[in-house]
Parts: sequence; C-alpha cells; structure tokens
Amino acid sequence: MTIDRRLALLDHLYAVYDRFCLSLGDLACRKYCADCCSRNVTMTTLEGLHLLRGLDTEAQDKCLAALAGVDDQPIFRPRWTTNQIAARCRDGLDPPEDDAVHDGSRCPLLADAACTLYPLRPFGCRCMLSRQACGVNGYADVDDWVLTVNTVFLQTIEHIDRPGCFGNMQDVLQALGSEDRCTAYREGRAPTEAPGLIPNQPAPVLMVPPEHQEGIRPIWEEMQRGMTG
Ligand code: SF4
Ligand code: SF4
Repeated sequence: MTIDRRLALLDHLYAVYDRFCLSLGDLACRKYCADCCSRNVTMTTLEGLHLLRGLDTEAQDKCLAALAGVDDQPIFRPRWTTNQIAARCRDGLDPPEDDAVHDGSRCPLLADAACTLYPLRPFGCRCMLSRQACGVNGYADVDDWVLTVNTVFLQTIEHIDRPGCFGNMQDVLQALGSEDRCTAYREGRAPTEAPGLIPNQPAPVLMVPPEHQEGIRPIWEEMQRGMTG
C-alpha cells in the first residue's frame, strides 16, 4: 500500500475515532489537563509521518529540537507491538510485562500544559480518555469498553502501517527526522535499524472480549468503509 493511501486511511480512522469519542458520556479530559502527557507515548511510523507532514519546516525543527533536548532522559521503549501481544493472547500465552518508565516525566511537546501539536497528536494521545482527572488517583480511569475500542484502533493502525515500525514517539519522530530514513520509509522500507524501533505486524485476531463484540460491529464497519473505499 502506498504511503499516501496509508495516510488517507489514518485520517479516516482518526475521524471515526473522533465520532466514537462524541458517543461517550462525561469525561474528565479537558484542555490544560495534561498529567497523561509523559515521554512514554508510543506510536507507529505512519502516525509520525502524519504528524511531521502537518507541520511547516520551522515547526518541524522546533518539535525535533524539543525531543532532542530530552534525549538523555529515560523513556519507555516498547519491546512488543500491539499485534505481537494479540498473537500471544491468541496462542494462550500471557501478555508480556509492561516495563514502562513511570517517572512523572513530561512530554517535551507541551507548552503551558497544552499540546503544541494537538490536531496532529498520535493515536496514543487521542485515546487517553479518563472518567476522572488522572491527578486524583495517579492513573487514568478508562472504561473497559473504551479500552477494547482503543485496542482495535491500535491493531488496525499497526496493520495498515506495514512495512513500518512502532516505538516511543521520541524514537519514531527522530528516525523520521533523518532525511535518509524518512525517504526509505516513504519508499516502502521500514526504518528498522533506527534505535528503539520494532517492525509492525499484521493483526492476527482482533482482541475483542465477548461482551463487546456486538458493540464493536458498527464501529468496525465504519472503519472498514475507509479501508475498502
Ligand atoms: S487522560 Fe487524564 S490527564 Fe489526560 S486529559 Fe484526560 S483526565 Fe486529563
Ligand atoms: S504529543 Fe501532545 S498530547 Fe501527546 S503526550 Fe505530547 S503534549 Fe501530550
């Protein structure tokens, strides 16, 4: 699939997810509520390219400089993609341990507690939807139904972004900030040699528990309309 087709599909998936968010009841998420904005955000190369393409050269440089400024600080580097975890679950294996770095770090793309590239933020930021302000309990209170829908979107974005990679937002954007790697990715090669990135995998099975299978159907059909159109 060409990179332009993949980008168009991602726009479609973001629009479907926006409509899903409107269907949810009261959430605590508000502008300037940014406890969830850590350096642990993960994303695919497709989301990274979508983000960088939405910025002019000056804004791109500013974004990459902000990430480079915290280069020496610890970040969560995933060892498994969402679809690899799905394959383990399908095979009856336990999901791997989460070894995220929970150090209260702040995303360097925040300014005055607001995201500087909010309309372009990756799915991992879009899908943080909490019923209570995270500052109250120290974690997001996410409904199980939302977690299921989020997983289906994460699996789908990874599935369509092949050959592409998954990793921490900092690693993905820095890899795409290199002209050679970005060109290689646009031409259909995965920048797997970039530090911290792992190759995306096809979705082996959608991780939807029985109690959510009926509810996910119309959302899945809406997602598919963009895939087949
Ligand atoms: S996920 Fe938590 S910290 Fe982030 S906007 Fe929502 S309530 Fe605020
Ligand atoms: S990219 Fe934006 S929304 Fe995502 S963690 Fe950083 S500041 Fe928050």
